[in-house]
Amino acid sequence: MKNPQTLVEYLVACERMVIFTGAGISTDAGIPDYRGPQGLWKSRPEVSFQDFFDFPEKRTSYWTHKSEDWQKWGQVEPTPAHLAITRLHELGKVRAVITQNIDGLHRRAQTPEDVLIELHGRMDQVLCIDCGFTDAADAWYAGWLETGKHPHCPTCEAFLKPGVIQFGEHLRPEDLTRAQQAMQDPDLVIALGSTLQVQPAATFPIMAARAGIPYIIVNRGETAHDGLPHVALRLEGNVQELFSDAVEQASLMFG
Ligand SMILES: [Zn+2]
Repeated sequence: MKNPQTLVEYLVACERMVIFTGAGISTDAGIPDYRGPQGLWKSRPEVSFQDFFDFPEKRTSYWTHKSEDWQKWGQVEPTPAHLAITRLHELGKVRAVITQNIDGLHRRAQTPEDVLIELHGRMDQVLCIDCGFTDAADAWYAGWLETGKHPHCPTCEAFLKPGVIQFGEHLRPEDLTRAQQAMQDPDLVIALGSTLQVQPAATFPIMAARAGIPYIIVNRGETAHDGLPHVALRLEGNVQELFSDAVEQASLMFG
């Protein structure tokens, strides 16, 4: 297939895809889009990285928000689109999955750790930014809700925090390096369920597109990359239907 025209044709033709995902891939799992029209962050302002350490009441808000989020969404199941990405990887088509989401649904869908880059961290872990200690978050969230005592690192006594990148916090260097490496020579970049507005995350897909790699955007609603000359295909609508169906059709044509 020399000149793919449809998403299915691209999926069949390409073998080193990078898939970039945003909140729109998880809304069908019941997880709200923080930045969407009904976005949580409008009624519940996020706590910045600096404020978390400077103000006890901000630490309290942050631990409470994240513990409540975990209770609501910590156990939800991946969507058909998450499973479709894993399927593509199993078929040897996917080099990397870069996500803005903190919900861990790619991991729950069995996308392997070495392929997955969670740019904004993960809510199923807590971490110490002083010594690098990390731990599964369940018990820490439960402990917070039970005692209201700010959790401290068992290794160095510094404040523990949910493993989510906060406003004002830099992305982790190892994640940035892995994302840059993944973008070096993919043969296709697909952005799913992202408005592509959050920086620096949204620079990754456009980085490859500017280098001439086909760039496909699937999203319901406008994105910041709409209309750019680098976009090979723009599909408007429900990611679950558009992407999962295309993967299913393409998988019948592989091999
Ligand atoms: Zn520590």
